[in-house]
Amino acid sequence: MALFETIPLTGLIENGIRTDGRKIDDLRPVSLEVGILPKADGSALINMGKNKILAAVFGPNEVHPRHLAKQNTGIVRCSYRMSTFAVDERKSPAPSRREVELSMIIRQSVEPTIFLEYYPKTMIELYLQVLCADGGTRCACINAASLALADAGIAMKDLVAAVAVGKIDRPDPPTIVLDLSDVEDKEGIGDMPIAMMPRNKEITLLQFDGTLTPDEFKEAYELGLKGINELYEMQKTALYEKYAVIQENIEQNNGKNESEEQSNE
Ligand code: UDP
Repeated sequence: MALFETIPLTGLIENGIRTDGRKIDDLRPVSLEVGILPKADGSALINMGKNKILAAVFGPNEVHPRHLAKQNTGIVRCSYRMSTFAVDERKSPAPSRREVELSMIIRQSVEPTIFLEYYPKTMIELYLQVLCADGGTRCACINAASLALADAGIAMKDLVAAVAVGKIDRPDPPTIVLDLSDVEDKEGIGDMPIAMMPRNKEITLLQFDGTLTPDEFKEAYELGLKGINELYEMQKTALYEKYAVIQENIEQNNGKNESEEQSNE
């Protein structure tokens, strides 16, 4: 046996079906829950594939240190942290360069939707804690962050929805696929995260790693748009669900009060 025998690489797609059973234009299973942290002003939990991420929003609050406050606008601070146990190989608890970069990227993706001019001299803090990572955490964070901001009652133009589109080439020819899983992210040949305010199709994030022909770019963008629209509908449903529960509780309490009043008469 040769010392460096080549191990045959298994395919990432076979007859249009990916390693996790999805078709090329399928999102991973997504679940969204709003308002799950009672001590935060706004919060959300997203499960996207095996990604599990908590988003918490505090504010608008006074800026510390005060000299960083802006007279005519509010500011957003964002912290993306990956738990040590979120990945296969334990991550160091020390903040990494990647976490600093992703904190900036997520902030820049959600900031354009906030009417920051309504909140002069204040700051809005956004915390993202990745409990389990499965590729595409930045997009999953953006989806959860915009829900947590809405849950906090922050004035916004729209929600922001995000998904990564990618290119896999095992076997050849390359295929453009929606919502890369961890293995597709690591072993694929292209990764394009897109974030958008879907109502006006305003893009707030477009990154790319790899190479795409102009036709592939068009295909990837259209596929991304499809995924973003599906995520947007799920985000709106998650918000409505929270308020439907509140309304139900109010109606139940009103009913209880009315029957108490009648029995006292
Ligand atoms: N990842 C990892 N260890 C790390 C950082 C990342 O295993 O220290 C994995 C994780 O599953 C992540 C994926 O690599 O989702 C891709 O990371 P990338 O930096 O491309 O950002 P993401 O795709 O999560 O937005």
